[in-house]
Amino acid sequence: MKRTSVAAGFDLGGTQLKYGAVDGGGRLLLKGKVPSPGSMPELLEAIRAIWGRIKAESPGRVAACGFGFAGFYSLEARKILHSPNYPSLNNFDLVPALRKIIDVPFRIDNDANMAAYGEYLYGAGRGTQSLVLLTVGTGIGSGIILDGELWQGACGFAGELGHITVNPEGSLCNCGNRGCLETEASAPKIVKNYMDLTEGQEAVTSREVYLLARRGDKAALESFARCGYYLGIGLGIVINFLNPEKILIGGGVVSSGHYLLTPAIEEARRRSHRVSFACCRIERAALGNDAGLIGAAAWARAGLRGRTR
Ligand SMILES: [Zn+2]
Repeated sequence: MKRTSVAAGFDLGGTQLKYGAVDGGGRLLLKGKVPSPGSMPELLEAIRAIWGRIKAESPGRVAACGFGFAGFYSLEARKILHSPNYPSLNNFDLVPALRKIIDVPFRIDNDANMAAYGEYLYGAGRGTQSLVLLTVGTGIGSGIILDGELWQGACGFAGELGHITVNPEGSLCNCGNRGCLETEASAPKIVKNYMDLTEGQEAVTSREVYLLARRGDKAALESFARCGYYLGIGLGIVINFLNPEKILIGGGVVSSGHYLLTPAIEEARRRSHRVSFACCRIERAALGNDAGLIGAAAWARAGLRGRTR
């Protein structure tokens, strides 16, 4: 008989559907990923197949299942109202569709919120009571923990730091605004900065810009520094506004290390109140790509207990 209590977690982004099974201590018992299916019927079919696999292979009874979906999840409608990276989710009636597949209690939330919850419980935020997670990659996602609780906002849409304005005259964002943190400080902007600075014709990736920065290439270093400047403005706003114990930075761009973070932290120091800056630790997130699925599983488990932590 299976004794260990297990929760399953799914993390759906624009490019990958990640999944796993997590025990009560946050340990991953199994995990995997597939390319994000293109349509809702394909997505549901993939979830059905993965759910069967998790139940069959998990060393314990799977008691709950959590989903982190990219997009604006409405607590009232229980739908993703808008998903720039996965438009098939828009207004889709998720709960009845998932109920036909998942035969245990399940919960849904935004993917970045789930990542923040995962880092809070089992990652770099362990032991804190307040943190903000920023994941910097193709876009910028974020989630907020306040007083040990996930801060979802009145309707579920809190923590959209990627879309605060840091440059009023900046680039146009997918959200319709101009100069969002996401447009000014994410991986595509690092590339754009480099192309602009070098008047380059050939496309490069942010990884290539990073490798050039490591070799001391001035344009590459400046590309990171410009993004770091805007990221720092965003961090300064968070520090002054919330006075969090920690800000965790995750996502693909974190592997570029200090080229982005050092100028960002310097700018945050300049723009936030000295006492607030002094009590906020800015650190790298710890769970990497697993944060979302670990958080979703933990969030589902917390739902079984009728509370959020
Ligand atoms: Zn925006």
